[in-house]
Amino acid sequence: MDPERLDQIARLPKAELHLHFEGAAPPDFIRGLASEKKVDLSEIFNPDGSYAYRDFVHFLSVYEAATSVLKTPKDFARLTTALLEECAANDVVYAETFVSPEFCGGGDVGAWREYLHAIQEAADAAERDMGVTLRGVVTCIRHFGAEKAKATAQCAAETAGDWIVGFGMGGDENQGHQRDFKWSYDCAREAGLKLTTHAGEWRGPQEVRDAVDDLGVSRIGHGVRVIQDLATVDYLIERDVTLEVCPGSNVFLGVYPSLDQHPIEKLRERGVKVTVSTDDPPFFHTTMRQEYANLAKTFGWDEEIFSQINQTAMDAAFCDDATRDAIRKKLERT
Ligand SMILES: [Zn+2]
Repeated sequence: MDPERLDQIARLPKAELHLHFEGAAPPDFIRGLASEKKVDLSEIFNPDGSYAYRDFVHFLSVYEAATSVLKTPKDFARLTTALLEECAANDVVYAETFVSPEFCGGGDVGAWREYLHAIQEAADAAERDMGVTLRGVVTCIRHFGAEKAKATAQCAAETAGDWIVGFGMGGDENQGHQRDFKWSYDCAREAGLKLTTHAGEWRGPQEVRDAVDDLGVSRIGHGVRVIQDLATVDYLIERDVTLEVCPGSNVFLGVYPSLDQHPIEKLRERGVKVTVSTDDPPFFHTTMRQEYANLAKTFGWDEEIFSQINQTAMDAAFCDDATRDAIRKKLERT
């Protein structure tokens, strides 16, 4: 594909469902905040200013160090603006972001409300100024354990509404089981929240099946390793589950050695509902424009396929129907 054509595809309007709030923090933003607060974070940056880590487990600890300078509601409001500027620069018109009450007030509902208020205000202002709509999915952290997840779920349930639209789980998939978090998922579901969880990024098809059976999720973060068992692939189709696929993240972390060996195209061709997201873009040196360009280059995806991908994303988006319809029109118009 010639560079001009790739550039055209990279600039298509986009919807993104899998974006970690703190994981989207540009390194310059974190460095600036660290120096304002006189915190030395030099060990988490490469000489070129990007985030530095060795592997997935080390990534989680760098991630926690980076987010440690995000303290006050105002810090999170500034992060919201920085995140939405990145979205706007990548033609993203709708994004859902994973927010953790754990990082915003230590899981206390009263504190969480203050953080959420600041985040939402910044998001509303950015929507007016930049035309990007953002919604939040409250996320518990798997390696913090099931008990902490309960407090997170209660924060989610207390603030479920127009802006907090879903509940999910991130963190280290190799610890514990999906079923350990059933109480939290039931609590979120009863509050009217839609559900997703990370599965099938590091563990295989059984983990994906457990996510659907034990937690009743309608979406799965990654889910790509389901390709190892076609019966489970078909189970996802039967259960109408949408995958939040993050190809650049998977390649960067070595889940697949290269994009041409990534299963997104095989899953799509078989009929699985796949969408495209960046996960933690500055940590994985990616952007939504880059994801689109790489998919076009590797699999020959054209406007029609990206339009289907965006329709799938909006079908599976957790926002209310009025928002969904408005975003669909924006995605169609361009
Ligand atoms: Zn993720």
